[in-house]
Amino acid sequence: RFVGKTGDAGRGDIQSRLFKDIQTGNRFQGRRGGKSVMGKQESEKTVTGSDGSGRYERKALIDKLYETQELSREEWIRLIEGRTPELSEYLFEKARAVREREYGKAVYIRGLIECSNYCRNNCYYCGIRRGNQNAQRYRLTADEILSCCENGYSLGFRTFVLQGGEDPAMTDGWVADVIRRIKKEFPDCAVTLSLGEKSEAAYQCLFDAGADRYLLRHETADADHYGKLHPDGLSLAHRMECLRTLKRIGFQTGCGFMVGSPGQTPECLAKDMAFIRELNPQMVGIGPFIPQHDTPFRDERAGAFEETLWLLGLIRLMLPRVLLPATTALGTIHPKGRELGMLAGANVVMPNLSPLGVRKKYLLYDNKICTGDEAAESLNSLKESMKAIGYEVAVGRGDYRL
Ligand code: SAH
Repeated sequence: RFVGKTGDAGRGDIQSRLFKDIQTGNRFQGRRGGKSVMGKQESEKTVTGSDGSGRYERKALIDKLYETQELSREEWIRLIEGRTPELSEYLFEKARAVREREYGKAVYIRGLIECSNYCRNNCYYCGIRRGNQNAQRYRLTADEILSCCENGYSLGFRTFVLQGGEDPAMTDGWVADVIRRIKKEFPDCAVTLSLGEKSEAAYQCLFDAGADRYLLRHETADADHYGKLHPDGLSLAHRMECLRTLKRIGFQTGCGFMVGSPGQTPECLAKDMAFIRELNPQMVGIGPFIPQHDTPFRDERAGAFEETLWLLGLIRLMLPRVLLPATTALGTIHPKGRELGMLAGANVVMPNLSPLGVRKKYLLYDNKICTGDEAAESLNSLKESMKAIGYEVAVGRGDYRL
């Protein structure tokens, strides 16, 4: 392995090697030898265009996005449909330059604590949906959450993310108490919540208790598509209203979507980009859709790895300062997913701090990685892999740069 003084040269080498692996379709084998969840073969999907001019045009669109952070709806669609390996490499280079200009080589880490897998909702894609009779339900106690934080703190985590289903038993008052306890014990840490849709009063109460950030993926910015992913009663309008409320209250706010969710079209993705630009969030979470065997989408195809990277790069150019994770789902569909996500413009990773005993129960999708690893062990291998591509895991809250 390259361990160099001149990080740049070394990184260039490994980058081109990793990119070549992607381009030649070398899929690697899953780390645990599990069955691959990769989507359709890349070559079938990639639009290369028969005339050379389309390529120049799309390159110019990447330049335009880099310079102005803005594209029209039609331009977004052209770019989203027009991905090629060559253009990807061009995009990722620009995305890395922007990321390094804004955040240097630091990789921010967030310790993910999956506090409950009870959920009142029944989203068609999600493994912890209410209708999944096979999910073994659990809810962490406040003490368990605090000891996850303690473990995380000693490892260098300074952000804790409490994520869970919309569990009615996890009341706002209870969550507020947990936040106050975390803040009291670890005053130099940020608390991020990812607990779904709530009323303005509830969000305000959690903010007043000391929560700093809130992640609520919008899932898709196309209302019809939203209706295909969710049962009646859940609406895009309400999801968006929640996001605007969170921002107004003062949370560092994150939206996002799954790449390749059933029914997603380039038009949907163009709307996602326009919505994200308009909301101007501090964080954006995107990862491939991965089917879960106990959901209505069990037989759907997973989102494509390369397309997820492409969208990460585009988001970096559109929102230069955004906090952009290489997600666990990205790491699940490709053994080098997190590294390649970083090389495409991401700057955040969210390792799991949940107690080992519950990890296998929080199965949003199949083959999720790190369900059996100690946090310390995962963090060490993450540090190594980031170093190998020229980046460095940072100890600190890793706030949005104002
Ligand atoms: N209940 C919270 C947290 C949801 S889980 C909320 O509503 O925000 C966090 C994210 O996991 C979801 O927003 C969704 O985008 C993603 N997710 C769920 N099921 C998935 C699947 N099958 N494949 C990939 N991502 C999935």
